[in-house]
Amino acid sequence: MKSPLPRMGLGTWHMGESASQRAAEVAALRAGIELGLNVIDTAEMYADGGAEEVVREAIRGRRDDVFVVTKFYPHHASRKELPRACEKSLERLGVDAIDLYLLHWRGRIPLAETVEALDRLVETGKVERWGVSNFDVEDMEELAGVARMGGIFANQVLYNPARRGIEFDLLPWCRERNVQLMAYSPLDEGALASDRRLATIGERLGASASQVALAWILRQSGVCAIPKAGSLEHVRDNAKALELRLDEETLREIDRIFTPPSRKQRLEII
Ligand code: NAP
Repeated sequence: MKSPLPRMGLGTWHMGESASQRAAEVAALRAGIELGLNVIDTAEMYADGGAEEVVREAIRGRRDDVFVVTKFYPHHASRKELPRACEKSLERLGVDAIDLYLLHWRGRIPLAETVEALDRLVETGKVERWGVSNFDVEDMEELAGVARMGGIFANQVLYNPARRGIEFDLLPWCRERNVQLMAYSPLDEGALASDRRLATIGERLGASASQVALAWILRQSGVCAIPKAGSLEHVRDNAKALELRLDEETLREIDRIFTPPSRKQRLEII
């Protein structure tokens, strides 16, 4: 039985797009696994399945150390299409079962039908657990109405110091129901890595701006960050965030730079 979601993992968006980058991508993912970033997040959409193939190479011989997450298209979320999409992902990933299978974003297929198809994949052992991505509170409420108790394992959404609208409602909603929150684009697609203000805080703590942004996310229970890093240097830098603790004064300083939400904000989607 796999452990629950590790605290930090590895994103793969834009991996598998260029053959010349493949070796570097595989090396970065393998280094990340070595360093304890053992959730790998991918999707059938990324490089049209190419990212899942990069993951296959990266986890070869390490399957038991890695929690593999992949996502399916909303147009594959039906009773008929989902088992086929799942088989293709399993094949590209080279695994017998997907640790966490997510609906990438909400589409037109009724949620009840998708939940039924997902539960079937769990019953047949193709999928260990399932969840969703880019679901705001209203969608989560509707989903909870058709899912069995405890069935929704995770919701993967945009979350980082500069995009913290979910703190107002979605994050507490998930926490109260024990739904894991996976923070995607935790570096705001790289922008926070060069944020001057986070870099200044980092200098004081002997850390990089990226580490400050990631440690800020990781301090919260039930939240997992999945930064994407294409180089060994970036993977190593990010892994150090697991050791970084931000004190109350630093957290207040970050609140002054990136104001916490005081009202409902629509979930942002990348
Ligand atoms: P991100 O992780 O916030 O940022 C990635 C960018 O930051 C890359 O350009 C990377 O450059 C750079 N970077 C990483 N570590 C760095 C470091 N230590 N110093 C300087 N730069 C660094 O953005 P993301 O890729 O959008 O999000 C992460 C993952 O979340 C994705 O890969 C994907 O798996 C998932 N995601 C999911 C959804 C969804 O709809 N569910 C949407 C977006 C993303 P290099 O590549 O050169 O290292």
